[in-house]
Formats: sequence, structure tokens, C-alpha cells
Amino acid sequence: MLSEERIRELRGQLQGLSPEEQQAKLQELLTPEELKEIQQQQCPFCLIKEGKIEAIKIYEDDFFIAVLDINPAAKGHVVLFPKEHISFLALMDDTLVGQMFILANRISKAVYDGLKAEGTNIFVANGQIAGQNVDHVIVHIIPRYKDDKVNFGWESLKISNEELKEIANKILLPKEEEKIVEEPKVEEEDIDIEERIP
Ligand SMILES: [Zn+2]
Repeated sequence: MLSEERIRELRGQLQGLSPEEQQAKLQELLTPEELKEIQQQQCPFCLIKEGKIEAIKIYEDDFFIAVLDINPAAKGHVVLFPKEHISFLALMDDTLVGQMFILANRISKAVYDGLKAEGTNIFVANGQIAGQNVDHVIVHIIPRYKDDKVNFGWESLKISNEELKEIANKILLPKEEEKIVEEPKVEEEDIDIEERIP
């Protein structure tokens, strides 16, 4: 929590500014920790984690929670999210990202089996323009049925092969090096002679 003293100090520095200027100034004045704290206090998913917003959970572990979406695209629409307030998928630790998609896949299977879904969509909205309207990483798992009203359609663009190649060049990823786990080296002098097995 921001201390009263800190709040007074911030108020003093914002005095006389327009609401827009205050907003901009506040971004400068707050430390990253303070900014994160304020964002968490306004984030519905952090509030679900803290039990301040009621939600129907279908899964919880030390790192993730999955709940039923209260404004579902289809019955059984699940929202999976990390317990930590992370605003953007790219900021998330690789291991956590991996775990999150393994879980999303498990939830998708549960939706297939439990709700007799005929298909599922698993999707993440990255950025406002893509439909991310809360500043917390979430994965949607949406059961799909014939003739449901869920719409992920788009109009396909006409594009030349040259342009496809140009685009590919801009986003080429280097091949992942295999991660070599090094065995920790044991220094000879660290071993107690008497404990050494002959
Ligand atoms: Zn949050």
C-alpha cells in the first residue's frame, strides 16, 4: 500500500495540472513497483486471486487460476491466467508460458470431454488493438459447437509470393539452441576423505 505520506507527496506534485497532465505525470513519478501495485488494485483478475471478486474456479495451483468467464462467448468459456500481475505475454517467463499452454490444453480436453464440445479455440489477445481489454495476461479456452455464434472470421488478403518472402525475412527466428544442462562440478578438495567411498 502507498503510505499516506507518499500519497500527500504525489498530490502536491500533481496540483494545478489537468487530468490528462496528471495521468502523464503520475506515470513519471511512480516507481515501477508502485505502478504495479496500483494496477493490481484495479485489475479484476488480481481481485479474483485475492478473493475480492467472486468467480467460479475450475483450477488453481501456485501459479495459475482458471475460472468460468462471466460473459462467455459460449457456455463453458474458461479464462486461465497467471496469479502474478503480468500485463503482456511477452513479459512472462518462458517456463511459465510453457506451463500456461500445457494447462490451457488440459482445460481444452476437459471441455471436450465434460461439455461434449465439438471443437475449442485457445486464444490470447495481445494488446488493445487485438482485443486485450484488461492489463493482465489471460488465455481464453472457448468450447465450439456447430452453428454457435462465436466468430473468429476474417477476410483473407490477396498477397504475392514476393511479399510473403519479404515478411518472412522480417520475422525469421533463429533456431533455438538446445539447452545444455551442465552438471555441477565437484571440487576435489570439497570431498571429505573419510566420506569418500573406496
Ligand atoms: Zn492483474
